[in-house]
Amino acid sequence: MPPPAAAICEELQDMTKTVDHWIGGKPAGSTSGTYGPVTDPATGAVTTRVAFASVDEVDAAVAAAKEAYATWGQSSLAQRTSILFRFRALLDAHRDEIAELITAEHGKVHSDALGEVARGLEIVDLACGINVQLKGELSTQVASRVDVASIRQPLGVVAGITPFNFPAMVPMWMFPMAIACGNTFVLKPSEKDPSASVKLAELLAEAGLPDGVFNVVHGDKVAVDRLLEHPDVKAVSFVGSTPIARYIHTTAAANGKRVQALGGAKNHMLVLPDADLDAAADAAVSAAYGSAGERCMAISAVVAVGAIGDELVEKIRERAEKIKIGPGDDPASEMGPLITKAHRDKVASYVTGAAAQGSEVVLDGTGFTVEGYEDGHWIGISLLDKVPPASDAYRDEIFGPVLCVLRAETYDDGVALINNSPFGNGTAIFTRDGGAARRFQMEIEAGMVGVNVPIPVPVGYHSFGGWKDSLFGDHHIYGNDGTHFYTRGKVVTTRWPDPADAPTGVDLGFPRNH
Ligand code: NAD
Repeated sequence: MPPPAAAICEELQDMTKTVDHWIGGKPAGSTSGTYGPVTDPATGAVTTRVAFASVDEVDAAVAAAKEAYATWGQSSLAQRTSILFRFRALLDAHRDEIAELITAEHGKVHSDALGEVARGLEIVDLACGINVQLKGELSTQVASRVDVASIRQPLGVVAGITPFNFPAMVPMWMFPMAIACGNTFVLKPSEKDPSASVKLAELLAEAGLPDGVFNVVHGDKVAVDRLLEHPDVKAVSFVGSTPIARYIHTTAAANGKRVQALGGAKNHMLVLPDADLDAAADAAVSAAYGSAGERCMAISAVVAVGAIGDELVEKIRERAEKIKIGPGDDPASEMGPLITKAHRDKVASYVTGAAAQGSEVVLDGTGFTVEGYEDGHWIGISLLDKVPPASDAYRDEIFGPVLCVLRAETYDDGVALINNSPFGNGTAIFTRDGGAARRFQMEIEAGMVGVNVPIPVPVGYHSFGGWKDSLFGDHHIYGNDGTHFYTRGKVVTTRWPDPADAPTGVDLGFPRNH
């Protein structure tokens, strides 16, 4: 039984191990005295406490960022990129340490945590080349001795609010681009696994980033709401669940801020009858159960087209049954626990309720535990077949190791099913037919498409983002969209008269180019 909330609070007051905010280039202890618990999902034990920011503490971080912007916004591209190159080297050298922090608080296995650091590093690579991306445009002689330059300038203080499932990568989708563009940054990471973000702050400081350019405030809705309304925050990047993404988008926009809010997902994999079924089953199992299904790009629905359904489900079952589940720091583990007990119970409820709603339960992972870790947030592998589109298991984002298989008679039926989903993050097609794959690319309503690739997370120099309820706002994240989001355009029209020119005289007509 977990201790009651009041007992946890008292326990937290006495706890000495604390994750502090990071403000103005150094750790900032809590001034409000409010903390939340950080739990090791493999043991269920509260291992540390994290400071929860009050309005005043958020204001202090924004003030530090605003002060730093006065000089950082004017810094040279060479200065910014030399710091980012040093940060990249430090990040590379500390991959293991960051991955260990992630595993201890998130629960994912070490190799998976290393993968997340690697994908975050790709965005740092991109930011190191910001000088190329910020090259402006110049048109000479648009009229007599008139030149026009388009340039992009930073916004000022910008904020990032990030989810628990990628505590290092998702912040790195944001801040390297933001600070490379000359902004200063306030990050509000997930309160469930806050340590990786503080480690990133330490490495940025070691790389020579001036104090106040990157700040971290921990906490919950109090901290987020203050960032959304603070007049000195010019833009908000958010990644998390759809209901909160919608709220962030509406609130930040109402407060006059630029906002991009990436939400939840239900990612489909359409398997055509001509596909290599072994490859499709390998891909489905890897993409559905990796990180215990707690990925926004996890495949959570396989749509089997035509007569291949039974064979495909059997191939998935054979592979899924062999997955080794255990603590993330055990090299033998392929899948770790879920983030909290409450989330584990919610995921389990979809499996226990599935048969009554018409699904065939092929594998039931509820009730699973790991010997010696009985209080961990464990759940095993679940596989549901012939899932009705109207059932909860299909309609909701479960965010756990539960794969739904649906059946479609034709390609068109499968595409219609996928396009009917309110989500549109990633989707994949498995086929040997190039014509069908091309049709799928054009017809499918999702922001990221894989052709025989189950998790089509774009590389750093292409942008990441979904459609429909998976993204609110008009910018995808990182890539060219990242540069665009974190800068605003300015167009400068210049005329230097030649000394030999006759005076033009007064002309009240609207300027014409000639
Ligand atoms: P979440 O929406 O619960 O939390 C995200 C952030 O919002 C956290 O920092 C949290 O503290 C804050 N928050 C939570 N409730 C809030 C409220 N009422 N008001 C203001 N702020 C609030 O998401 P999560 O559970 O941490 O992460 C999992 C979700 O994120 C999944 O839905 C997943 O699909 C999604 N996700 C999406 C992407 C993407 O790129 N589209 C990437 C990763 C995760």
